[in-house]
Amino acid sequence: GSTVEVDPGVEVDEEIAEDDLLGGLKIDSTEDIEVPDRLVDQVIGQDEARDIIIKAAKQRRHVMMIGSPGTGKSMLAKAMSQLLPKEDLQDVLVYHNPDDGNEPKVRTVPAGKGEQIIDAHKEEARKRNQMRSILMWIIIAVVIGYAILSSTSPLLGILAAGIIWLIFRYTSRGSDAMVPNMIVNNGDQRVAPFEDATGAHAGALLGDVRHDPFQSGGMETPSHDRVEPGAIHKSNKGVLFVDEINTLDIRTQQKLMTAIQEGEFAITGQSERSSGAMVQTEPVPCDFIMVAAGNLDAMENMHPALRNRIKGYGYEVYMDDTIEDTPEMRRKYARFIAQEVERDGRLPHFTDDAVEELILEAKRRSGRKNHLTLHFRSLGGLVRVAGDIARAEDRDYTTREDVLQAKQRSRSIEQQLADDYIERRKDYELQVTEDGVQGRVNGLAVMGEDSGIMLPVMAEIAPAQGGGQVIATGKLQEMAEESVQNVSAIIKKFSDVDLSEKDIHIQFVQAGQQGVDGDSASITVATAVISALENIPVDQSIAMTGSLSVRGDVLPVGGVTHKIEAAAKAGCDTVIIPKANEQDVMIEEEYEEMVDIVPCSNISEVLDVALMGEPKKDSLVDRLKSITDAAFDQGAVG
Ligand code: ADP
Repeated sequence: GSTVEVDPGVEVDEEIAEDDLLGGLKIDSTEDIEVPDRLVDQVIGQDEARDIIIKAAKQRRHVMMIGSPGTGKSMLAKAMSQLLPKEDLQDVLVYHNPDDGNEPKVRTVPAGKGEQIIDAHKEEARKRNQMRSILMWIIIAVVIGYAILSSTSPLLGILAAGIIWLIFRYTSRGSDAMVPNMIVNNGDQRVAPFEDATGAHAGALLGDVRHDPFQSGGMETPSHDRVEPGAIHKSNKGVLFVDEINTLDIRTQQKLMTAIQEGEFAITGQSERSSGAMVQTEPVPCDFIMVAAGNLDAMENMHPALRNRIKGYGYEVYMDDTIEDTPEMRRKYARFIAQEVERDGRLPHFTDDAVEELILEAKRRSGRKNHLTLHFRSLGGLVRVAGDIARAEDRDYTTREDVLQAKQRSRSIEQQLADDYIERRKDYELQVTEDGVQGRVNGLAVMGEDSGIMLPVMAEIAPAQGGGQVIATGKLQEMAEESVQNVSAIIKKFSDVDLSEKDIHIQFVQAGQQGVDGDSASITVATAVISALENIPVDQSIAMTGSLSVRGDVLPVGGVTHKIEAAAKAGCDTVIIPKANEQDVMIEEEYEEMVDIVPCSNISEVLDVALMGEPKKDSLVDRLKSITDAAFDQGAVG
């Protein structure tokens, strides 16, 4: 069956399971967790993909897997090979063809038989060589004997003997040619073969015939001995896995398709200028199940005929990136760590709180409330780094401390850059203060995928030189213009100031940094502009992120968790985020105490929190509230 005993041999406390990070698992360390034998039972999540490979293995269908790297595509393909019958396995032998040396013959025999055939041939060749050399020495003895007896010159006799010796030696290679070349040997194979041909060049995928530098003169290697199998042949009766399928060149994809159609594929030299290109074997069996993988992009770029072939004769399945966080799932994640420790073989097992820390990290990395990430390769990387730290110190167990340190070490480049950036900025005057400053707001942005950064924005209002303009630095001009446009519609309603008669200068302090995405800073710009316009200071211990609609609604943005952490690291004590992002917040414990998170759904709420100087601020917020509420009501009615 396909279902897995979740945690065999381990007691589960159902009472606490719901709230417990270990899902109620009663363990001291991962040592207590039993790892299932079959790879297919070790796969966590990906239920649909798992069901499909089990089904496809029974029906011998091809499978296309689409999804992010490190979510288990190759693991599943390998698991599939373990589900295939091993009785079908074959050995493949290539023989010299006496009629045409460039067209070696191919024979297929049941697995294990190939070895016997080779041994028999070698034995025969050995015997034949023995016979030949005995024959040779007899002839030499006769020739020398005759030369002596008939009193011709003994020198002539020795010369004749030498010639005979050379003839025998020269022709002896012919008998090696009789031993076949076993290109596929499944004699020791306990399960059906699994071949990973990701990134393989044509020769490695389709087979090749080596170049022979001698080609004649007795030094040449017979052509059948130069034949090398491709992954398509080695995976005969098993699974051929090709990730990033679209990176194979079109001609190779075409040939791969032929191989799939025919179930056999002749081997020839792949390099046109090599002597191997003159050789072509009889067809070699390649009856494999293809598991092709890639991301969505890969699917669009792969050879349409090949895709149709797989689709028409098999299954397509999407891999999940995250999975719902349930007590049962958390218990499986604990088992995942046990699996990785076992697979590595050298890492110390993880203590219960080390497991908890990793599960927390899996929650965090999912970027979704109540979900766990299925990006297991990188999670496995963290397991190994943490385990290595413990191992380097010769400890029996990997602890929570090790996991925390491993996280620190395996920061992405962006993360390192951002941390370094914050570190350096602390040296300058950019430090967070308790003061209020007019027109200056601490914005937040994301760098790369997993790093937040604090990015102050400053606004200054000046009488227009010509028509009113928004002037911003660098690439953020467009975004600044848009934010100002949005906020100007609101400002018009409560203020006498006509923005079209003003120049608004927006400066992103130290935004020269590459990869900073300013997209989500529009409430920051709006707050800075309003503060500058109304001469009301902004609290500098606050940071904010959010997008702004024309009506003053605060709209959700990406990366809130990383942004909040960045604000905390920089020393802020309050962070404003869009109300709609509230459920995405998964900050680490250490930051939870450092910052207050204030979810806002309207710009008036943002200003209420961010602006200082009571009477003036209150009147502004009240005015704003009334007009945005009115706008909202109108919107709701209209
Ligand atoms: P992909 O082929 O999708 O890039 P892999 O199958 O090579 O990913 O995954 C890399 C490693 O991560 C696996 O060898 C395994 O240790 C772990 N892993 C990946 N996905 C899973 C999963 N769904 N369940 C358990 N372990 C997984």
